[in-house]
Amino acid sequence: MNKPRFWLVIPAAGIGQRMQAGCPKQYLRIRGRYILDITVSRLLAFANFVDCADFAGCMIALHPDDECWANTETSGDRRVSSCTGGRERADSVQAALQALSGRADAGDWVLVHDVARPCVSREDLHRLLSSLADHPTGGLLAAPVTDTLKRVRRGGTNVDGTEDRSGLWRALTPQMFRYEALSRALRQAEANHQPVTDEASAMEMAGSTPQVVEGRPDNIKITVPADLALAEFILGQLDRNDHSH
Ligand code: C5P
Repeated sequence: MNKPRFWLVIPAAGIGQRMQAGCPKQYLRIRGRYILDITVSRLLAFANFVDCADFAGCMIALHPDDECWANTETSGDRRVSSCTGGRERADSVQAALQALSGRADAGDWVLVHDVARPCVSREDLHRLLSSLADHPTGGLLAAPVTDTLKRVRRGGTNVDGTEDRSGLWRALTPQMFRYEALSRALRQAEANHQPVTDEASAMEMAGSTPQVVEGRPDNIKITVPADLALAEFILGQLDRNDHSH
């Protein structure tokens, strides 16, 4: 039997307002390299060694006013194509899926990964793909919530209560769904004006049941300035692990 194919879709059209950096956060540098280049090169390196599925290609959604893309290492990689993203993350993912039409088959897997998560690990990518290879719907990397959760009224500081954290998971990326089902779910959510902050929520709204695959909690999304040093540290640890294998 033929192995399933998988595509990488990378929404990279955000401006990273919370980073207060003067340029989109994917174009900040860690040890001299753009975050975008670190994220994509790690995924591409791992994708080549997946044995349960064949890597088909990568589509990255960029901001219409992006001026840095041409200076990246990634833009010269023949496995990577680019398209223009949209107003929200889900619009950018939709644009990337649309740009793959004619190349991707309905049943192909699509792995959507935030460009702002450079600390994605080889083991997580492989665990996600191998755990879900035969799953009808697909799913996502996620990590159980470990902090105690407080409910605070919007705009205020008074604690209203403590939430039960048992059974709560943090949604990470990659998230992995089939091309046609994901495209349809995102279109449906948009038509119904339902806010979608990750692919899994669109699939849930469409009546599917995604599966969580436990991932490393250090697969962080660079969001605030302090995350930059943290990501540099985590990447150093991951590199050391990879080299010791
Ligand atoms: O801003 P935040 O970190 O939540 O964005 C998550 C991911 O979605 C990032 O990779 C960002 O570049 C991407 N994004 C996008 N298009 C938008 C907004 C965010 O591709 N309109």
